This record gives sequence, C-alpha cells and structure tokens, in this order.
Amino acid sequence: MSFINETHDINLKSWVVSANQAGTDFPIQNLPFAVFRRKGTNEEFRGGVAIGDQVLDLAVVAQASIFSGDAQVAVEAANAQALNEFMGLGQNYWSALRLALSRALREGSEHQAALENALVSQADVEYSMPCHIGDYTDFYTSIYHATAVGKLFRPDNPLLPNYKWVPIGYHGRSSSIDVSGQAFHRPKGQTKAPDADAPSFGPCKRLDYELELGIYLGKGNELGEQIAIENAENHVFGFCLFNDWSARDLQAWEYQPLGPFLAKNFASTVSPWIVTTEALAPYRTQWHRDEQDPQPMAYLESTHNREAGAFDIQMDVLLETAKMREAKQPAAKLSESSFKHSYWTVAQMVTHHTVNGCNFLPGDMLGSGTQSGPEHEEAGSLLELSRGGKESITLTNGEERKFLEDGDKVIMRGWCEADGFNRIGFGSVEGTVLPAK
Ligand code: CA
Repeated sequence: MSFINETHDINLKSWVVSANQAGTDFPIQNLPFAVFRRKGTNEEFRGGVAIGDQVLDLAVVAQASIFSGDAQVAVEAANAQALNEFMGLGQNYWSALRLALSRALREGSEHQAALENALVSQADVEYSMPCHIGDYTDFYTSIYHATAVGKLFRPDNPLLPNYKWVPIGYHGRSSSIDVSGQAFHRPKGQTKAPDADAPSFGPCKRLDYELELGIYLGKGNELGEQIAIENAENHVFGFCLFNDWSARDLQAWEYQPLGPFLAKNFASTVSPWIVTTEALAPYRTQWHRDEQDPQPMAYLESTHNREAGAFDIQMDVLLETAKMREAKQPAAKLSESSFKHSYWTVAQMVTHHTVNGCNFLPGDMLGSGTQSGPEHEEAGSLLELSRGGKESITLTNGEERKFLEDGDKVIMRGWCEADGFNRIGFGSVEGTVLPAK
C-alpha cells in the first residue's frame, strides 16, 4: 500500500530500550500524541509522545531546537496545553514531525544525548484531554450493533431503511467528555417501564458502556465547503479509544422523535493517546459492501476507499468490579471486536458530515458508534451481551451482570497487527461508575 514509509519499517529499533520489548503498545513505529504533566505537580500540561514505557516531553524537544523546517514548526505547536494548533497545521507538518521523531528515537541517533533528558516515565505522569473538542458527533457505523439494538427497541423494524444509504449520526455533547480515569455519578432521570402508565424519576437502572473509536479531525474546512472523499483522510489527525457511556432506560423513553439526549451526555471517556492516521497505515484493509446491499452514492464512493478505506483496529472490553478490586483479582474480559467490520469508513463519515457545507474545526471528534462484530460474543455493549437485560453475564469471579453496578470500572484496549509489521497499541481508556448523587 502506498502509505507505507520508513517510519513503519519493522526493523527499526529505538535507543529507548522498553520500546523494543515484544508486546509493547508503543514501539518506535507508533509514536502517538497525548497531553501530560508529572503527577502531583503544578507543571503546565504539554504535548508528549509515547515511546515504550516513557513519554517524550515535547516542551524539551521544542526548546532543544534539534529539528528544522516543518518538523520544528510542528513540535513548537505541539508544546501546548492542547494539541489543536498542531492538529490544525495539516498532514505535511504531522508527517514531518513523525519522521523527525522516528529518526531521533532510533538506535544510533545523534540526538540521543539531547533527548534522554526529555523522557518521563509513564508511571509518573497524569494526562489531560489531548485537545479541546469543540464539537463531537457520534456515528452508528456497526450494522451488527444497529441491528441488535434495533431488535430490542423495535422488534418488528430493527434496521430502519435509511441505514444502508446514510452514515447515521447525531450531534453529541463535548463538555462532558473527559480523559481516561474519569469517574462519574450514576445519572438520574425519567424512565418508563413498558407496562407503566406514567414515567418515574430516579437513578438509571440500565447503565451501559459503548466500545467505540474516537476520530479526531485535524485541519478543518470552511463553512459552506465540502470535503471530497478523495481528500477526507487528509483531515483526519488520528484515533483514540472512546467509551460512550449510555443510560439505556433513559434512552428508551426519550429517544423518539429526536434521538439520544440525557441518556448520552452525562459522561464520555477518551484514551489519553491519539494514534495518528499515518501510524495506522500498515493495518488498513479493503472495505466491502455486500452486493445485495445498496451501493454508496457517488459522493461516498472512491477506488481508494474500496481498496484501503477500512482499518483493522482490534479492541476489547474488560470489567473490574469493586469485589475484584478488593480481592486483587484481574478484570474480566467481556468481549472483543474490530473496527474492520464497520459498515461505513472514516472517509465516508467525514465526507458525509460536510456534504451539506457543515464545517469542521481542528480537534473536533467523531465517535465511530459501538463496534460490535458479527457474532453475539463480539458485541460492544452490555445491552447486546445481556440481550436487553434478559440474560445475566457470569464474570470470572462468579459475579453476574446485566448492566453496570456502582463501583464497576470499565477498561477498553485497542491494538493493531499485520504480517510484516510491528504490533502497535492504543493503551487503554478506563472509567468508573460512582453511586448516584
Ligand atoms: Ca455511541
């Protein structure tokens, strides 16, 4: 594939020894970005790059002035409390910085001595949101999730007729998105049991997670201008893990006719690291549309999108209950899936979002929608795994769940593997449910 360059070479090794260990999420082929500072200090948050078990401090790198041209402009922009300015610079600057970082972190680099002082152990840092998310849109791109959930909410009419024509989405709320480690109180609200005459008010009884990817826009577009599918990926800075917490009982009562509202806007959690679109090049794959299904309209169709529009990003979900934590037991795996099953690609989402002239700003985020795979065991939410709360899931320590309980911590992980390339990972996104206030 044409996107592969020297930064993806499986033979590259770093002078940061932990980056060369098998199974690390952060080998030199990855180089994801976050915003961090040393834990328990009043330091300013600033950009960092993961390498092995370390963070490369971009404030130190920027001040060392070891890069030149676009790479130096980019690293200075990334030395900030939010990465929006860096993300807004565009593809040439992102690539220039990635190449400069890759060369500087390789074994034998002339910059090793200068950069050894720029390393901070990941164990000693805390993260903030990597950028200011001005606007957030959640898509619904897994047809397996849409069909399974549709069956529960509308048994006679699971998949609405627009699904196979339109990349369905709704405008979400960005103010309640926080970085991994988020803990939030169980939401309260209106719910109505199917057999009740009137709704009641109280704590959510069917609290759930959603296994998603977050897709960060880099360079935006002017209001009124469309982003053609051929250019769409030039606007996509990178990807994170995203947990779109959902209150299913609130959702069932409120979602018609205008879609999700208070069932979705009380908390959403992103992983600290943004894995760039360029780092994901080796794990791209063909995108298929079943011959029996409607083919995309012309504005959502391109050869490149067919050949390499999908990303094989593998993800899993684990649950650590309060009892497991007390007993020091490992978290229980609930399911595993891949973004490659997505019915629509990232390029199609971006293009569709702007086809009416809607503008993106750097740092805007798209949720992929819950990434459930074709099999029941690959479902990305408890709503699906428990078949709408009808069946309990037995965890490794014998506890049972239909939905989340207070004290539950949900952990999501992501990684990519491909023949001839190194494995890269996303780290994790973690969040904990507190009792209702
Ligand atoms: Ca969602």
